[in-house]
Amino acid sequence: CGVFGIFGHPEAANLSYLGLYALQHRGQESCGIVASDGYHLKSHLGMGLVSDVFKKDDIFENLPGHAAIGHVRYSTAGGNDMKNCQPIMVDYARGSIAVAHNGNLVNAMEVRTQLENSGSIFSTTADTETIIHLIARAQSDSLIDRICESLHQVKGAYSLVFLTETRMIAVRDPNGFRPLSLGKLDGAYVVASESCAFDLIEAEFIRELDPGEMIVVDKDGMKSFSPFKETKNTPCVFEHIYFARPDSRIFGRMVYTVRKEFGHQLAREYPVDADIVIAVPDSGVPAAMGYAEEAGLPLELGLIRNHYVGRTFIEPQQSIRHFGVKLKLNPVREIIEGKKVVVIDDSIVRGTTSRKIVKMIRNAGAKEIHVRISSPPTSYPCFYGIDTPSRKELISASHSIDEINRYITSDSLGYLSIEGMHEAVTMHGDDKIGFCDACFSGEYPVKFPRLKSDKQLG
Ligand code: 5GP
Ligand code: SF4
Ligand code: MG
Repeated sequence: CGVFGIFGHPEAANLSYLGLYALQHRGQESCGIVASDGYHLKSHLGMGLVSDVFKKDDIFENLPGHAAIGHVRYSTAGGNDMKNCQPIMVDYARGSIAVAHNGNLVNAMEVRTQLENSGSIFSTTADTETIIHLIARAQSDSLIDRICESLHQVKGAYSLVFLTETRMIAVRDPNGFRPLSLGKLDGAYVVASESCAFDLIEAEFIRELDPGEMIVVDKDGMKSFSPFKETKNTPCVFEHIYFARPDSRIFGRMVYTVRKEFGHQLAREYPVDADIVIAVPDSGVPAAMGYAEEAGLPLELGLIRNHYVGRTFIEPQQSIRHFGVKLKLNPVREIIEGKKVVVIDDSIVRGTTSRKIVKMIRNAGAKEIHVRISSPPTSYPCFYGIDTPSRKELISASHSIDEINRYITSDSLGYLSIEGMHEAVTMHGDDKIGFCDACFSGEYPVKFPRLKSDKQLG
């Protein structure tokens, strides 16, 4: 998901709309904006893309005020339906509050069960609602203390933006799994999942929030708090591999630069005698540039993408995903025919995409096809807010690289090593951040209470 917030600007809702537009790649199922005029919160939410949900001009007349927060959603916890749209907004004994969440809580079910046993009634199936209930029940007098009290009871990944009538509050979980940045625009404070949202609205990038940092913005300005005793910086390496936009700066580095470095590293680890390098667009492009550069091979646009098709993996049904590949990509025969081709993609999840792509390139006359993946084999599910499928759907959970090579019908297959990935994501520097790599290594930085459902390591 993607989150955005702005405080202290007369065009708050409009700017949130633009911010969400820039974050659309982080979720396409639903979106929403909640605005405050200083007295009341008002919201507009809907299923679908930002451009569809906010189509009519008068929507913004109904979202007046100097502060607003927004959300784009794809479901990792809770189903894909209208009642799970965010920001979630509620009225409770002490006023109104809205929240937008990126990430996934690993103990939401446990907390929810406890709350339900003591009388809470939930209106969504999303993990985020537990936070709202905890805040409403918390004993402390100040809102900030109530939020802190609540966040001490949940575990997992959260980059959160809250809005009340008079304040905007942004928090990153103590592990800093998901990105969240702070910016400024004409004296107003802005927060966004990725800095590309600041570029669009011409806000100045100030810095990223630290893991475990909470910032509070009101009419008197911005204050920073560190409510957690212990923090541990384990940002999601997959944001750099695939999820974030290449023109964003997250976890201290440009995504674009890191992706190219994944490609350099991949070329060093898995060189091959070939004529051209092609990328699986768009996600494979920067790594392919890096691979070609390091290997001294020409990079060609051998696959052309139809830009009116969304990110295939976010569409929830396997049947749609199947169609997706052909709808989305077309090989350029003139470029590929008779050539030994290196094909670069960022990841193999189920293997269905790669298999179709290899067949497509073979049918376009390629002599040899060498698939290179700019991340290690994805063998474990993510519980921190990236929608990887259950373990049994992950092809590398149950198949060797040789078997996957045969399944996708390539002539050779090479994945970036886990060590190489860490080297590249830190640009071979010594400021080694302990990036989360659990979907590759199985080493989860935040433990979860129980492995219950099939989704959890099934
Ligand atoms: P698959 O191997 O499942 O057919 O699809 C792999 C493709 O999906 C890659 O091109 C990659 O860009 C994209 N992808 C990236 N991240 C994810 C993810 O978290 N889940 C899924 N299913 N696909 C992803
Ligand atoms: Fe990111 Fe993978 Fe860790 Fe999930 S498990 S937070 S996708 S690195
Ligand atoms: Mg892709």
